[in-house]
Amino acid sequence: MRLTVIGTGYLGATHAACMAELGHEVLGVDVEPDKIAALQSGQVPFYEPGLPELLMRNLANGRLRFTTSYEEAADFGEVHFSCVGTPQRNDGTGADLRYVDAVIESLAPHLRRPTLVVGKSTVPVGTAARLAARLAELSPAGARAELAWNPEFLREGMAVQDTLRPDRLVFGISPEAPHSEQLLREVYATPLAAGVPLVITDLPTAELVKTAANAFLATKISFINAMAEVCEATGADVAQLSASMSYDTRIGGRFLQAGIGFGGGCLPKDIRAFMTRADELGVGEALSFLREVDAINLRRRTRVLTLAEELCGSQLAGRHIAVWGAAFKPDSDDIRDSPALEIAQRLHARGASVSVYDPKAMDNARKRHPELDYAATPLDAAEGADLILHLTEWPEFRALDPHAVAGVVAHPRIIDGRNILDHESWRAAGWTYRALGRP
Ligand code: NAD
Repeated sequence: MRLTVIGTGYLGATHAACMAELGHEVLGVDVEPDKIAALQSGQVPFYEPGLPELLMRNLANGRLRFTTSYEEAADFGEVHFSCVGTPQRNDGTGADLRYVDAVIESLAPHLRRPTLVVGKSTVPVGTAARLAARLAELSPAGARAELAWNPEFLREGMAVQDTLRPDRLVFGISPEAPHSEQLLREVYATPLAAGVPLVITDLPTAELVKTAANAFLATKISFINAMAEVCEATGADVAQLSASMSYDTRIGGRFLQAGIGFGGGCLPKDIRAFMTRADELGVGEALSFLREVDAINLRRRTRVLTLAEELCGSQLAGRHIAVWGAAFKPDSDDIRDSPALEIAQRLHARGASVSVYDPKAMDNARKRHPELDYAATPLDAAEGADLILHLTEWPEFRALDPHAVAGVVAHPRIIDGRNILDHESWRAAGWTYRALGRP
């Protein structure tokens, strides 16, 4: 099939390359000429394991191209995937829908023949129905320009495998879009034939599946972080608590590790947008618990600062602090709402000299926080440090020898913000080791 993928960021660039890999002819569209030029020359403008190889292969076999022209996109595509961002609004907690609106406004006037537009972005419930009406109004094809919703569940760091072989597909189909289900079945013929579960539902349910799933994941993380707060007040150990809880298969161990909490370009803004939309719909009370989920999450960042102060003898000014990790999670260079970087920046604001190292997110971090120092290796960052903070759980940090690190610091003190280092070997090497929710 001839597909376009509009918005070639983390989601769209991956979707475009994976759809080409599945055998479709794909045209990627973005408003940023530099991004399009990079992708067209085989460079992925962000870090995502496996994506560069997929991009190169499908550029070379001619199934994948990129453009900034909506006119070209409209001429080319039978199905158009809208993958643009839905960040938090600058003036509130709702989703900023200007980019999803702009896709329809730019594409629709060029749609002269029957077409399907498929939304993949995470949007407040009700957005798809509004966009469908606008699409029919603006496009010369009128009602033959159909709209469906197909929310995306990929995880950064695993995006390629999650797109080629998702754990489920959800198609939000409206009665006004009679051809959309069949077209989506053809797009996803390969994963469907491989047995990927398919849920066919209406537009609002499809929109809600994504926001509800993210709200659930955020709640699970904040639940165990709330337990960490209780553990801190009682001398209990949250790592042993969560390990013991996870044997109950009804609970499970995923997303149940206490630490500095969630960040990134999805969970924080998605739960806030969800609460805002619920307020608009008059059901705000149903989601009031998410306010607490958000608050628990943000309190963990403050807790690291308090712990750092405790370990450094109450004064952070003038201390040298090494921060291991800048990305919001490992296997990604994404620093959007990264807990690690926020903590680094707040330490700097209190007068500490902060040296950051991250295996992949250094360029992004440097652009966003030029006031911080950046080191070429974890040991360089730790040179002369009064305290090390382990804030993004890259495997590289777990592999470090605590004795070797002890040889370069001024004081062997470490806060494990992810509760994942082998605390016994760090303590055995002479370190003062602290973690959130543990004695
Ligand atoms: P992103 O910011 O990386 O990418 C958005 C892209 O859209 C950018 O390249 C931007 O230049 C482009 N764009 C903006 N306006 C445009 C326009 N009018 N026409 C064409 N292109 C335009 O964002 P992302 O992380 O890829 O997220 C996109 C959406 O997918 C969001 O709604 C997000 O919540 C959702 N999502 C993201 C992930 C993820 O892991 N990143 C996972 C699932 C869902």
